[in-house]
Amino acid sequence: MTFRFVSGRRCLDFAGTVRHRGSPASEELLTHPERLSDWAVQAGLVDTAIDVTDSDLAAAIELREAIYRSVMARLEQRRPKPGDVNLLNERACQRQLTLRLQRTGFARREGTTAQLLATLAADLLDLLAGADIEYVKRCVDPGCTRLFIDSSRAKNRQWCGIKCGNRAKVEAFRARQRASARSEQPAIHN
Ligand SMILES: [Zn+2]
Repeated sequence: MTFRFVSGRRCLDFAGTVRHRGSPASEELLTHPERLSDWAVQAGLVDTAIDVTDSDLAAAIELREAIYRSVMARLEQRRPKPGDVNLLNERACQRQLTLRLQRTGFARREGTTAQLLATLAADLLDLLAGADIEYVKRCVDPGCTRLFIDSSRAKNRQWCGIKCGNRAKVEAFRARQRASARSEQPAIHN
């Protein structure tokens, strides 16, 4: 499957691997270990597939939820859960994905799932330590809920990407059509 990378930060893109969070339509995208490897390759964090076991996937999902909860806590000006703080600190200080120079002279991005998780945890800590955290938003599309960094100059972006923005425009257009159809009706029916 093709993952979307619209958040402006890998840790936030990773949090977006659950669609429609908090709704009955909630959809887990990391349904099996290979999906995590695919995500890492598509994210550009590794050059080739990595080995992922079932327990690696469970650890990845645990970290992902800690990332999501901690960002939401910050957005809502709450303290993060102590368990999430411990997990993120533990992961972030481990060995991260590395570049390795090959004998051919080419360098490759490679590593293990543990290194991938360390990289993502460290990316979140870096985000929380910097200025960009002030511009993190949650997409206003009620079905989307994706976290993203608003990099627009006016800081007035509401949607994570073109897809959600266009959907909102189409819905607003339909609502206007329905409203104008209703305002024309009374003369006919009365
Ligand atoms: Zn969205």
